[in-house]
Amino acid sequence: MGPFADEAVRCIRCGFCNSVCPTTLTSIGYIPARTSRGRLVLLQSALEKGVPAPFTPRFKELINLCIGCLRCVSVCPARIPIPTVMSSYRYSYLKTQGSRGLMRGEQLLTHYESMVKSVSRLPPPLRQLILSRPILWIFKKVGGFADDAPIPTPEGGTLDKYFRENKPKPGHQIYAYFSDTFARFVRPSIGVSACELLEKAGIGLAYPRQYDSGVIYWELGLWDKVRELASQNVEALSEEVVKGRKILCTSPASTMMLRDVYPRVLDSMKSRLVASAVVDINELVASLVDSGKLQGSLNHVDCVIHSTCLSQHLHLTGQIVGAIETLGAHVVEVVSECCGSGGLWGLLRKNRGLSVEIGGKLVKRLKAGVTVLSYSETCSQQVESLTHGEIAVHLPHEALNYWLSKPATHPQAAHTSQAT
Ligand code: SF4
Ligand code: SF4
Repeated sequence: MGPFADEAVRCIRCGFCNSVCPTTLTSIGYIPARTSRGRLVLLQSALEKGVPAPFTPRFKELINLCIGCLRCVSVCPARIPIPTVMSSYRYSYLKTQGSRGLMRGEQLLTHYESMVKSVSRLPPPLRQLILSRPILWIFKKVGGFADDAPIPTPEGGTLDKYFRENKPKPGHQIYAYFSDTFARFVRPSIGVSACELLEKAGIGLAYPRQYDSGVIYWELGLWDKVRELASQNVEALSEEVVKGRKILCTSPASTMMLRDVYPRVLDSMKSRLVASAVVDINELVASLVDSGKLQGSLNHVDCVIHSTCLSQHLHLTGQIVGAIETLGAHVVEVVSECCGSGGLWGLLRKNRGLSVEIGGKLVKRLKAGVTVLSYSETCSQQVESLTHGEIAVHLPHEALNYWLSKPATHPQAAHTSQAT
């Protein structure tokens, strides 16, 4: 069994996890085995009887109904790290099955970094050709992705190039920026807007050597790969911490990986040192607004903020809402609904129906014409896709950068900044 697997034995079968679990609160939730509580009961029974877990494709299908949103972690009275337990069983399953245990789309996702890195570096005409509808259609068919799945497509350029050409200003306080693969190769504008926003508060960003955070491998249960990437990142980032620098993350998945997962899988002094230096962009913005280092008037701003699953787990939503309200904006929070993307889980054809059912409840709470903020790249893509582009969704720091740079305007795609 994988580490953490036997935590399931402590389940008291209360069902509290069911009350917040996005995949349980759907039309399949009437089947006990397809609920969060049902999965724990199944594992607990197997552990108590001393029989090995039934490592069959059907078993994996049930385990994969946990999309790792972490909503249940704070309500479980037995303090079971439920998504980690599920990931641990995926790890055990893959140990017994080898790469046969991953479907084709999942295997493709394990090459995500190298794929987007290659596409981001292509000259624009070739990139447009690769990302054209017919080629994407073939990619989706072959990979087992849903026809309507919002596949992340690189906008062009890389953060490596941007930071080679844009050094921090003299006298600015330096943070080391861990961007992760999405901002690095898919949407470098996320990093550019962070850089522009923080510059207004006298903060410059250094861009250290770094590797993929490993969050996709974590979701899939490929823990050996997570350990390898964690170890490389911790080695590189600890050099920055020793220089007295904080590690800035602009993705909730990176914040979670560096702060929670790396110390768990490496259990080393260095991983704990790096974890203690991590600061999420929303935490930093909140402290800068609080201290008056980031100022401006957002009296004209009316927005809705979707409190994403990871933002809630990391206690980030309250901080960014507080910061935006302090600057004068009117903010409405949408807290209970999940977008249903589950990282890249909702892109797969076999999961798409459930993913759309979950996300549909969130979309009903959002209105076209109102600025929507959501701190997650995949949630933003999911909402834009489910509303066929009627609702544009912005990361909070991108919208703030836009508002504070161009007051009294709407943040059209906050993708306006381009890394060339
Ligand atoms: S992590 Fe999310 S999807 Fe998984 S069991 Fe908990 S609430 Fe359900
Ligand atoms: S909330 Fe925790 S203790 Fe209760 S059923 Fe879920 S896993 Fe078991």
